[in-house]
Formats: sequence, structure tokens, C-alpha cells
Amino acid sequence: MKILICDKVAPEVVEELKKLGDVVYKTGMEPEELKREISDAHVAVVRSATKLRRDVLQHAKNLKLIVRAGVGLDNIDLEAAKEMGITVRNTPAATSISVAELVLGLMLSAARMLPMAYSSMKAHRWEKKKFQGTELFGKTLGIIGFGRIGREVAKRALGFGMKVLWYDVVDVETELDVKRASLEELLSSSDYITLHVPLLPQTKYLINRENIGKVKDGAVLINAARGGVVEEAAVLEALNSGKLSYYCVDVYEKEPTDNFALIDHPGVIPTPHIGASTREGQLRAGMEVVRIIREFFS
Ligand code: NAD
Repeated sequence: MKILICDKVAPEVVEELKKLGDVVYKTGMEPEELKREISDAHVAVVRSATKLRRDVLQHAKNLKLIVRAGVGLDNIDLEAAKEMGITVRNTPAATSISVAELVLGLMLSAARMLPMAYSSMKAHRWEKKKFQGTELFGKTLGIIGFGRIGREVAKRALGFGMKVLWYDVVDVETELDVKRASLEELLSSSDYITLHVPLLPQTKYLINRENIGKVKDGAVLINAARGGVVEEAAVLEALNSGKLSYYCVDVYEKEPTDNFALIDHPGVIPTPHIGASTREGQLRAGMEVVRIIREFFS
């Protein structure tokens, strides 16, 4: 069995996969090389970088299984895979804690202006007065999408003494001390708003020019879900008008982003899509990939 690993995985994971088959581990392949390598592979392991579109999958004559180490499947043509009888699996739970911790980090970055204080110190300045921040304690966090990551964020925010509102299209049973709200109510009463929905036609521009005006003055918006769920142009306007004080963002409408009007705005705290990128998260995701492949062929 040929297992083609197309994106970076932990060395421990490669060692485990070698016990299951012949491993070819090549990252950053050009389309032609990818087509060549996938033509006789039985399993393909990807993260988000490798795009398995129809034109690539057409060459995959032996492929039975694609495993995405991570959550989003937007880099795989699911329709084409289905037509060709290829099973597609992912590891949705493995990196929830990593993303949730990044979200708390971004919230603290905004509350205490940590990136700005860092840059100021590195420029050999001592601007103590400029960096009086605010506490998370007692503030309201609105979580849009109360799934795995949304609930992990809630647990941590409660630990900081925040009030938590959540909005979702499905009923979510929870023992956490949180309150369900309508989207409108959440937007108008939250000091911090964080998104944890998948990118679907229904969630495209979920935060947009129309509803961004309903947020509390000076609210902080955090997006570590997917670029397309927030309309970047609307965010920029809301930052310029002071409606939003900060936009903490890990994901972009286009990646790598070239929206430098957004990145350069002093109210934007950006990271380069690193939500799931922790040692623990990637190891958990990789070991889940090994388990999926082992079970699929047993
Ligand atoms: P999940 O499926 O557990 O939760 C998503 C929730 O969103 C569900 O409860 C669902 O009902 C809800 N939802 C769907 N459509 C909605 C809508 N229109 N309005 C309100 N709620 C809606 O997923 P998860 O594991 O919590 O991950 C959430 C998203 O986070 C992923 O889809 C992915 O895009 C993103 N993500 C980002 C990173 C990163 O590196 N920044 C890493 C992992 C996941």
C-alpha cells in the first residue's frame, strides 16, 4: 500500500505510517509531480496546503482514502472524490483546544495591547501611559457557532470571569454557565465577538456591511474560523468609524492575504492562519490520521 503524505506532519506520525505501508513524504509538490505521485497511491494524507481538485484526482487510479489532518475540507473536491468512490475523512476534534487557546491569546492581545507594547519596547521606547488596557473579567463574549471550538473558547472565557452568549443554528446541550442568544442580541450586547462556524454558502459574509453596524461601539471582533465568514471591507469601515476597536484575525478571504489596507490598520491584530498549528494539536491530528488509515484497511 502506498501512502502519499503531501503536507508537513510530525516525524512520529511518519514513523507510525511506515508500519502501515510504503510512505512517500513530499511536501510542496507542483501540480505535475502531485499528479504523478498520486497516480499509484492508495492513501493521500493532506493538511490545508495541498489542493486535491478534480484535475488531480482524475490521475488517482488506486486512491481509496484521503485523510485531512485537520478540520476544513475546502482544499478537497468532495464531489469528484465521491464520484470516484474515494472516502474522505478528517480529524475534526484534534486541534479544537489549539484554536481556542489562540482565540484567548488574541483577546488578551487586544485587551492589553500586547503586540503594540511589544513593538514599542523593541523600538526602545517606554510608553507606559499609552498602554493602559482593559480586563476581560466581567465583559461579555459572544460566540457565533457553538460547536467544538466554540465550546472550548467558552470554557476558557468563563475561567476569566466573562459572561458568555452563544448563537448557533442548532440546539447545543451544554452544562456550561452560558446563555443562548439570537444573532442580533449577541451582536448588540457583546464586548468581544468570536466566530466558530464553517465556511458554507449560508455562512459566507455572516458578518457583513448590514449587521456590523449593530455591534456595540468599540467591540472587538475575532475571526479564527474562515476568511469568507467575515466581509473584510466591512470590517475596515467599522474600524475606521470606531465601531470596532480591534479585529483579531487568523484567516483571510484570500490566503496568503494581500489585503494590506486591512493588515496595516492599527486596529488589526493579525496572525498567519496558525490556529491549529501547535505541536500538540498536530501530533493529535497525525495520530488520528494513523488510526483512521489503520481502521479503514482492517
Ligand atoms: P463544529 O462543526 O464543531 O462547529 C461549528 C458550529 O457552527 C456547529 O455547531 C454548527 O451548527 C454551527 N453553524 C453552522 N452554520 C451556522 C450558521 N449559519 N450560523 C450559526 N452557526 C452555524 O466545528 P469546529 O470544530 O468548532 O470548527 C469550526 C470552524 O473553525 C471550522 O469549520 C474551521 O473552518 C475553523 N477552524 C479554523 C482553524 C484555524 O487554523 N484558524 C483550525 C480549525 C478549524
